[in-house]
Amino acid sequence: MPSPYSMVNKRINTPTVMAYVKGTSQSSAHDSPPRQPALVKSRTVDSGARVVARNVGRRFTTASGSVDACVDIDLTVEPGSFCVVVGPSGCGKSTLLRMVAGLDHPTTGTLDVSRLDGRAPTNAMVFHGRTLFPWLTLQQNVAYGLKLSGMDRNARLARARELLGMVGLVDFQRAWPHQVSEGMRQRTSIARALAVNPDLLLMDEPFGALDEQIRYLLQEELLRIWERTGKTVIFVTHSIDEALILADKIVVMSAHPGTIREVIDVPFPRPRFMTEVRSDPAFADLFTTAWSILREEVETGGAFTEGTA
Ligand code: ADP
Ligand code: MG
Repeated sequence: MPSPYSMVNKRINTPTVMAYVKGTSQSSAHDSPPRQPALVKSRTVDSGARVVARNVGRRFTTASGSVDACVDIDLTVEPGSFCVVVGPSGCGKSTLLRMVAGLDHPTTGTLDVSRLDGRAPTNAMVFHGRTLFPWLTLQQNVAYGLKLSGMDRNARLARARELLGMVGLVDFQRAWPHQVSEGMRQRTSIARALAVNPDLLLMDEPFGALDEQIRYLLQEELLRIWERTGKTVIFVTHSIDEALILADKIVVMSAHPGTIREVIDVPFPRPRFMTEVRSDPAFADLFTTAWSILREEVETGGAFTEGTA
């Protein structure tokens, strides 16, 4: 039975575009055995990975020429912190996330993902849209990565149940993806990503397809989970509002080819509650700061006509 790690070594991705992968740590990435996933009950920064990007760029060469998806990315994401990336469409957000996941590689610069204790970091990705296996129940979807890692059936189903409980779906564990709402499917995707206890959670516009009320509920749910587990999170969104609710720091990227325009520290205390954050006078100031930068990039960078979402 292949482990999730071999999925990456062989560059095999599942049709769900879900990835359970090793980080891009240059040091011990191939030496350490897979760690048995375990639900972390209290928050410790030790359980998160550190991401350090120095002058990272990614150039794609296509039949019609070359395109720089992103250039000169300098970024440090500390273990256990919540980093949100915003930027115009086509500025390289997904490319950056894929490189951090080890699914793609920089063509310039260095990108290092490591743990403080030197062990090889793991990561998992959550995307928006239909990413669950339609032929598996919610419980089986959550247990899927654990099956690949060799965990026995009873243990993995028990853990999947625990995680579905964490996202409020234990009563729906035997449902098929088409029988539940989009919000419930997305909660299942989050549970599935958490199942392998990754050091780094990479989320690419995970709530982009959801209506606003469900989005609000999931944002708070994600915050509660993150506060409990202490993972490092890199979260991509189009929404400044979402970024301010979630982030320790917001990375604002320029229009294509994307680079970092500004890093905004978000000072609201934790645990955070959306209503408190929104009623804080600093919220409006930070929103204005972020939007004025982003607006400039969207308007002057040609993001209306170039790039892809
Ligand atoms: P974002 O997620 O910010 O919308 P992407 O990372 O998807 O942006 O894409 C950034 C740029 O890189 C876009 O111009 C896109 O067309 C280009 N790009 C992304 N992936 C590839 C690829 N595999 N081949 C060629 N160009 C690509
Ligand atoms: Mg994208």
